[in-house]
This record gives sequence, C-alpha cells and structure tokens, in this order.
Amino acid sequence: MAYLESAFKAKWALAASGSFNSPSTISRGRVVSIDQGVLTINKAKSEITLATPTVEGMLPLDIAIGYIQKLDAMSRKSTTYADLKNYSTFNTFYPREMKNLLYFNNETKNEVTRTCTNCGVVLPDRLLQMDHQRPKIGGQIEAVAKVMRILQLTVEGPRGPKCTQLYNAFEEADRHSSNAWIRIFTDQSFLTGAIRPTQMRVTSPPGNMDGRYTLNNPGSILYAILLHFGMGDLLNICLVNGIANIRPLCSACNGGRSNKDRKYPPV
Ligand SMILES: [Zn+2]
Repeated sequence: MAYLESAFKAKWALAASGSFNSPSTISRGRVVSIDQGVLTINKAKSEITLATPTVEGMLPLDIAIGYIQKLDAMSRKSTTYADLKNYSTFNTFYPREMKNLLYFNNETKNEVTRTCTNCGVVLPDRLLQMDHQRPKIGGQIEAVAKVMRILQLTVEGPRGPKCTQLYNAFEEADRHSSNAWIRIFTDQSFLTGAIRPTQMRVTSPPGNMDGRYTLNNPGSILYAILLHFGMGDLLNICLVNGIANIRPLCSACNGGRSNKDRKYPPV
C-alpha cells in the first residue's frame, strides 16, 4: 500500500521538472524546504490549518519519504479497511481466540471469537463490526493527528493504549535501523500485545490537549508539503480508514456513534 508514496513521488517529479503549477515554496533538488509556519488545529472547525508563519524549516527528501512510507504502512482505503480483520498486526492488538460458545439447546460450539473493545463481550468474530474510532465523516483530521502523534510529529505524544504501543514500537525500531520499523507490520516485532477493554476504559490523564493537535517542526513541514501537493484528501482517507483508527466493536456499542465521538475540541 504505497498510496501516499506514489502520489508524493509523482508530484515531486512534476515539481522537480518545473511543471508543477503552483506558487511553489518548495525548492528543487534533494532538500525540501518550505517557509510556511506552524500548523495548529483550528478549534472551531476541528481542522489542522496553517497558522501565521512563524517557523521556517527544512526536511531532507529522504526523511520526508521515510515518514510517508510509515504513514502508508498505517493506511487503508474505504474499500480495504474491512480486510484489517485478517491482518496480523490488527490481530495482535485485537486477538481472535477459539472459545466454546453456548447455543440455545445448551450445546457449545468451538468458534473463532473476538472481544468488543468497548463493553468486553466475547462474540463470534463474524458478528464484530469494524468501527472508525474517529468518525469517517468529520473525524478525518483527528485521525490524521492520531497518526502524526505516533510518528512523533506532534508537540505531545499519544495517550491511548494502541497509539502508545505503536509510538513505542516505532521508537524502539528506529533505534535498531532506519527501516527496522517495517517489522512492526510483518512479524509484529516491537509490539507488546493485545489491548484489553479494561485498558480502553481507563480515562486518559488530561495532558496538553492542544499539544496533541499541534504539529512540531518536522510535522509542520511534512504536512504543509502534503497539502501543497494537493494530497490532503488522500491523507484523510488513508488514515481515517487506517489501523490506528479502526477497532472491533459489537453492534450495540457501534450503533449510534457519530460526530459526538470527536475528541477535539472536547464535546
Ligand atoms: Zn460492545
């Protein structure tokens, strides 16, 4: 899944050849630079927006592409996120287990089950639904911010159990080598295991909510470049449907969820 990387490289090739039709602030060559400012979330619209230019920065192209490859690894589209059910990394967070389930005639059947992340009921896996934690419509920017936090591109890090585990996994992998992180998604290296409903219900300490929705310098530069290349919608689709934003819920817990599940600003 190189949705973002291929789109980025196509735009980059146009920019480098001088045929990218835009008031470019990106210099040609190996180094990307952009002079737009800090990106912060717009509280009224729940959007990450370009704020008053206050910071200039540079991000080497290979570093930018490295981040984009990591974003791709956590991406799905609206037509493919359901496949996460069979994805080994997803199943590390939300394991399937064989259990004896009771039927009406007091007989039990040994079935593949999974646990609702919210209420904890154990159901046949076929009855679990794939929930967008931040809603598909209206929650896209928050989903982007979640993934930016995992990649240390925000002022404050993540607090939820899944994003914290991914954050630690990327950090640990990067200490090994620049591409060791790929193993998070191949053999689940650096991950610590299942997320249980009890963890989900623990209320996160408040922390600095604004900091979790404010991109740091590398994050600002990367995000500004992606917007500059017209990739904002693609980024939203890829990450709202991605592994950081999808969890299994029973139909009762999934029903009636909507924009009220947006976290920023708190509602
Ligand atoms: Zn439930």
